[in-house]
Amino acid sequence: MLSNYQLGLDYAKQLDKEDELSHYRNQFHIPKDKNGNDLIYLCGNSLGLQPKATKDYINQELEDWANLGVEGHTDAKNPWLPYHEFLTESMAKVVGAKPIEVVVMNTLTTNLHLMMVSFYKPTAKRHKILIESDAFPSDKYAVESQLRHHGYDDKDGLVLWSPRPGEELARYEDLEAILEAQGDEIALIMIGGVNYYTGQYFDLKRIAALGHQYGCKVGFDCAHGAGNVALNLHDSGADFAVWCTYKYMNSGPGSLGGCFVHERHAHNKELNRFTGWWSHNKETRFNMRGEFDALAGAEGWQLSNPPILSMAAIKASADMFNEVGMEKLTKKSKHITGYFEFLLNELNNTDIKIITPTNPEERGCQLSIQVKNADRSLHDKLTASGVISDWREPDVIRCAPIPLYNSYQDVYLMVEKLKTILND
Ligand SMILES: *Cc1c(COP(=O)(O)O)cnc(C)c1O
Repeated sequence: MLSNYQLGLDYAKQLDKEDELSHYRNQFHIPKDKNGNDLIYLCGNSLGLQPKATKDYINQELEDWANLGVEGHTDAKNPWLPYHEFLTESMAKVVGAKPIEVVVMNTLTTNLHLMMVSFYKPTAKRHKILIESDAFPSDKYAVESQLRHHGYDDKDGLVLWSPRPGEELARYEDLEAILEAQGDEIALIMIGGVNYYTGQYFDLKRIAALGHQYGCKVGFDCAHGAGNVALNLHDSGADFAVWCTYKYMNSGPGSLGGCFVHERHAHNKELNRFTGWWSHNKETRFNMRGEFDALAGAEGWQLSNPPILSMAAIKASADMFNEVGMEKLTKKSKHITGYFEFLLNELNNTDIKIITPTNPEERGCQLSIQVKNADRSLHDKLTASGVISDWREPDVIRCAPIPLYNSYQDVYLMVEKLKTILND
């Protein structure tokens, strides 16, 4: 498949014509330049675009609130009391989990802390936390603060899985070596399922199996995985996972996060956790005076009654994902990303290096392009030419052709503009 790509605008147009998902682009608001032309938006890995349907979903809840007041909890078209349940099945399909394993609640970093309350149980002998060396800053700060919270040194207690000098991608042999040397001191392995910087999609099952073999708990931050790759969280065997819904899942800035707790922990009421009335048995929640009784599954980690307006935006997106299905989505994702890679390689520019893995099974749709001796001005020129991408210091542009709304022409034009700028 990869070698079949061709150069030229006509070919890009032909691919758009043959694309069975092309009509979804029309279901999104595409940001425009000041002349009213579509921008080339390749930043859906940072903030996904707004589905046109989102407004109706939110308006429904505003209307029910206006007309029903508190009765909306039970009488709204989509009653608010169980509203999060309307998201569970679609979300479970997106991340490859069973419904009992998934809940939408809080935001990502909050969920990460809640999961560590339950799955980071340090002892004097085993208290370290392993992360990848270029983990997303919020994840690093969160695990460091957990170490300090339990009275451990956050330098000593942090074990980094790093790429080798001169390399960009982490190697599994090196993870194995770390675990062999100090696996019995590591309480938790917490890895970004798809690394935000390189776009490397890790083998979750392999990492979870390895961690468990050494007696560690294993969790994944799937902020860059959910809605991007087929995560198969259940089969991965991970203890927990967390993600956000505003990147690949198009649910709006700062929208709520998702949380996965593996089925084998679903009925374990002994697991220590932080609780609130929304983690309590639904049958007796409003008796208000009984002893705490945890809900089974991921729902049993909720704290508060959730913000319905934000959930409505997630429902708009989740319904669309449900309709398309991850299979068609990842099929186009692989094809359009391969096309993007092909065009970049055809530039034959030795200053450009794609640091994302070349194997389509080890990446989603993001390509991280390292440009020798470049600085932020390159990104600014791209922006001025109508390409919305993302700059990461020191020298990387991240671009993600999103299968739901990016076209092959978007990709073609981006590479043309990059070529022009680099040749200037
Ligand atoms: C985007 C992202 C976050 C952001 O966390 P919030 O709590 O949603 O602000 C955290 N971790 C990773 C890996 C991310 O990609």
